[in-house]
Amino acid sequence: MRYAKLALPEGPVYVSVEEREGLLWAAGPLRAPEEDRSALAPEAVAFQPRPLHSFSLLPPVEPSKIVCVGRNYRDHAIELGSQIPKEPLIFLKPPSSLLAPEGTVRMPANSKRIDFEGELAIVIGRRCRRLDAQEDVKPYIRGYTLVNDVTARDLQKSDEQWTRGKGFDTFCPAGPLVSDEIDPAYGAPVTVTTCLNGERRQTGSTADFLFSIPALLRYITAFMTLLPGDLIPTGTPAGVGPMQAGDLVEVAIEGLGILRNRLAAE
Ligand code: MG
Repeated sequence: MRYAKLALPEGPVYVSVEEREGLLWAAGPLRAPEEDRSALAPEAVAFQPRPLHSFSLLPPVEPSKIVCVGRNYRDHAIELGSQIPKEPLIFLKPPSSLLAPEGTVRMPANSKRIDFEGELAIVIGRRCRRLDAQEDVKPYIRGYTLVNDVTARDLQKSDEQWTRGKGFDTFCPAGPLVSDEIDPAYGAPVTVTTCLNGERRQTGSTADFLFSIPALLRYITAFMTLLPGDLIPTGTPAGVGPMQAGDLVEVAIEGLGILRNRLAAE
């Protein structure tokens, strides 16, 4: 199942997404996930299927928290001159940083370097706490989406705490859809790519994760309860770099579409 969240004139609505002749289509309205009370009921919408790109999209998630993983690819840790972590490195982005596909990232005036970080993100489907080593994590995963973990690199470094450098409004573009048709948690790695103004800057396989998806979920749920809708960006591959006003960033994984966002001064 693949789904997206549309901004219709009547209000937000979830729709199933299908591929037709190489294009993603919004096929029909769906009941909203339990945690999203903002969305319309499917029967409240008069809906005609159309290509997904002809609609205005919303982030397809309504997380209580965004739990991010830092330095989960060895090459990225090395490019930033950082230690290879011995345990997962976890930080939070606030849900207020979420931005829709095609939305504009606003560059805060007090940062001189704002980087893209293309990432695969897990969407939680079931409340989970203290997952143990034997437990299959799959029943807790609703699906996957794309995130750009936008980072004010200078503030991240000067603050030491990452909250401000990672947490500005618009610093978490997410979408365009959620899919459970890929399985990077168990044996089917996916390739994350990021393009800046059409030029490929990042390519990384989830086969190169320092910590696997089951290991990440066990580590996080050992200290934090995850709720349906929670979003877990899994770290970025090597090749991060700065963006300027007017730039176009595209994060892609086969099966998850392309997350496109432009930048503009605040
Ligand atoms: Mg990141």
